[in-house]
Amino acid sequence: QAKLKGRAQICGYEPSMQTQMSWRLEMEQALRRALAEDQLSIAFQPQLDERGRVVGGEALMRWQHPRHGWVSPEVFIAIAEESDLIVELETWMLDRCCELLSRLPAETLPRLSVNISVRHFTQPGFVEGLTWVTGTHGIEPSRLIVEFTESIMIDGLQDAAERMQALKRLGVQLALDDFGTGFSSLAYLKSLPLDELKIDRSFVSNLDTDGSDAAIAETILAMAQHLGIDVVAEGVENRAQHEFLLARGCRLFQGYYFHRPMPAEAFEALLAGREVEADQPRD
Ligand code: C2E
Ligand code: MG
Ligand code: MG
Ligand code: MG
Repeated sequence: QAKLKGRAQICGYEPSMQTQMSWRLEMEQALRRALAEDQLSIAFQPQLDERGRVVGGEALMRWQHPRHGWVSPEVFIAIAEESDLIVELETWMLDRCCELLSRLPAETLPRLSVNISVRHFTQPGFVEGLTWVTGTHGIEPSRLIVEFTESIMIDGLQDAAERMQALKRLGVQLALDDFGTGFSSLAYLKSLPLDELKIDRSFVSNLDTDGSDAAIAETILAMAQHLGIDVVAEGVENRAQHEFLLARGCRLFQGYYFHRPMPAEAFEALLAGREVEADQPRD
């Protein structure tokens, strides 16, 4: 302990930073065990079309720590992204999602979206892994939508575009998540084989009160229509937001106004038309 303290002083660490580092280390170790010990699960948030039918869902990872309880994905995904642990977690996630897609016919669940981190996306075996998992479960790859953020452009547009082309050859669909919050450049939109843009919920949440957010949402919709890219509005929380977006051509919606993320059983029941009032303490 004294040695640690001494080193911390030499390195100029604030004690709080040291505590933070050991907390992260502890969480990383706990997260490594989580998969094996069945603490991870997946929540599904329904996506609706313009007529209000559930046409898909977004798979969101959940972790219930035995002592700390539910840990936010914003926290544990960031920890997992510091190592290849994220690849393990998302590989598990992809397997579960493809299994669900194989069990439900396309009429019941047309599409399912999964979030893939940059680290995983840029991994050498990523495309092969996806080919394998869709093949093993025998699903039509186009039912799987891979969501990634603008950060995949980190190694340059060329690299990202090539990877995306390989995914398109496999047949999966590609969605750009949290659109408008990263280092967005409109120029890259035309060079990437994107199927879908997700308007970040920060623009959606102030649609009714903030004129510039409304203008941004409207512009994204108009631009996407010209480019032939679908738009999903995320974080729709009320009727005014829904109507605003609908009137401007948005055709896919996701948000608390319709459904919160829910456990697999509730999602399947919803799809089967037996909408149960599931007990959802989280989200
Ligand atoms: P995201 O991909 O943008 O997912 C949407 C987030 O918005 C989810 O948060 C969802 O619960 C939340 N949300 C949906 N509708 C509403 C709404 O109407 N109002 C509000 N306030 N929030 C809404 P969640 O589940 O906490 O996930 C947070 C982020 O964690 C995700 O953001 C995604 O970036 C990341 N994440 C979750 N699972 C994975 C994963 O398997 N891999 C990776 N790389 N990231 C993941
Ligand atoms: Mg997402
Ligand atoms: Mg998002
Ligand atoms: Mg996000």
